Amino acid sequence: MNMPQQDGGDPRLLPIVIWPDPVLTVKAAPVETIDDKVRDLSEKMIYTLSVTSNGVGLAAPQVGVSLRMAAFDPSYDPDDIEGLADPDALFMAINPEIVEEEGSYLDEEGCLSLPDLFYPVERPERVTMRYITLDGEPRTLVAHDFMAKLICHEIDHLDGILLWDRLSRFKREWLKGKFKKMRRR
Ligand SMILES: [Zn+2]
Repeated sequence: MNMPQQDGGDPRLLPIVIWPDPVLTVKAAPVETIDDKVRDLSEKMIYTLSVTSNGVGLAAPQVGVSLRMAAFDPSYDPDDIEGLADPDALFMAINPEIVEEEGSYLDEEGCLSLPDLFYPVERPERVTMRYITLDGEPRTLVAHDFMAKLICHEIDHLDGILLWDRLSRFKREWLKGKFKKMRRR
């Protein structure tokens, strides 16, 4: 969990890992203990998400750490989420899991680890997520539409799944090719 820091850079800002870095395609380990390392990582992830334009969610593998932690910015659409004390504040979910889902919702999806790539991905219309807060408290929230999509996207990262893994093989290979071409430019 040693983060390289550039001289003069903001030490709270974590570099975001871009595909095909292997950390993005492995299953992350559960957080066993909420210690100073986890708290420090959480603070930096929330900071990084808050200053990253268009970023609404960030999973630990996206900053090179294979742990089941994800930061969310619900302020993008606070009406889409129920069960948060402050629906405008960024928050960290430790060991998050989807315990219920229903319906389907199709909308364009992007990923900080696949810059400038957007493609419609089908997700549940409504999900119930169980997670642990930084204080070790178990919580449950319900999210729909965009926020349900966001939660599914970030939890997929914890399982090494990227948005194109939710598409047919044909679309996945086409999108990968397109992304590789974009990165060469
Ligand atoms: Zn992503």
